Amino acid sequence: MPLIVTGSIGIDSIQAPTGDADDVLGGSCTHFAAAASFFTKARIVAAVGDDFPEHHLATMEQFNVDLAGLEKRAGSKTFRWRGKYHENMNDRDTLEVDLNVLAEALPPVPEDYKNSQYVFLANTHPAAQLDMLNQFPGRRLSIADTMDLWIETERESLLELLSKIDGLVLNDSEAIMLTEDSNTVRAADRILETGPKFVVVKKGEHGAFLVHQDGHVVLPAFPARNVVDPTGAGDSFAGGMMGCLAATGDLSIDGLRQAMAYGTIVASFNIESFSLTRLTEIERGHIDERLEQFRQMTVIGA
Ligand code: AMP
Repeated sequence: MPLIVTGSIGIDSIQAPTGDADDVLGGSCTHFAAAASFFTKARIVAAVGDDFPEHHLATMEQFNVDLAGLEKRAGSKTFRWRGKYHENMNDRDTLEVDLNVLAEALPPVPEDYKNSQYVFLANTHPAAQLDMLNQFPGRRLSIADTMDLWIETERESLLELLSKIDGLVLNDSEAIMLTEDSNTVRAADRILETGPKFVVVKKGEHGAFLVHQDGHVVLPAFPARNVVDPTGAGDSFAGGMMGCLAATGDLSIDGLRQAMAYGTIVASFNIESFSLTRLTEIERGHIDERLEQFRQMTVIGA
């Protein structure tokens, strides 16, 4: 089933205890689409500026993604993000964010994308997320991600978005910030009251849980020894999850559990390098192999 995504495509500069990376390919849409592409082709609708380097485009082309909806906009600048990780790598500070083209209108949705059934609104301006969502009235599933900046500056449009989507994925600190409830499970319950049928709360190296109208799922993260750069872990988790859902079409709790497990595994590869490098090196077989290891680790005997 066709999957479409909008979100940020950006240029990141990252400082981490493992080293620094300047001007690398980043963005929520980029990490999401690369992760989803192991399961199904991901259609992208997003804009970059005329400063977007050709070699970043070439990296994106290595994945099973459709770039017909990617506009290189003359006279605009690409979104940029600069972040610094703390010693424990779970915490990070945003040092600088230049929205640039992200504050402008979305490019038009290509005609042959109009039959997209699975709509993912990766982290970007909620107005752009709403605009995209409204163009797919016949969708089967819509899920959005968000982040602290938008919760702080665009709460109204974010609440409007929540009233229209099926699912929300966000991290634990964002769930607390959005609801002002310091218990993340209660925070997820409160988010359900605003509209979505389910919420996935991501907890970094502590895994993720799902609170759904029909039940709950809890999964640890894949135990990782080699964490080089956690940037995009959340987006690649969502990409693996949504890619799997679009491929299987199974929206039951069991289907969501399997999709979350795949998301966990793709994210565990994403963090093994800066930017998308590790994802360019692996194939679906590597993901299935690690999923099997994860399955054996998480099975609880009778
Ligand atoms: P994650 O580590 O999953 O939170 O995603 C990090 C990615 O999101 C980076 O590659 C950034 O380019 C991008 N990003 C950071 N801040 C924002 C923002 N406010 N809106 C959209 N994308 C962002």
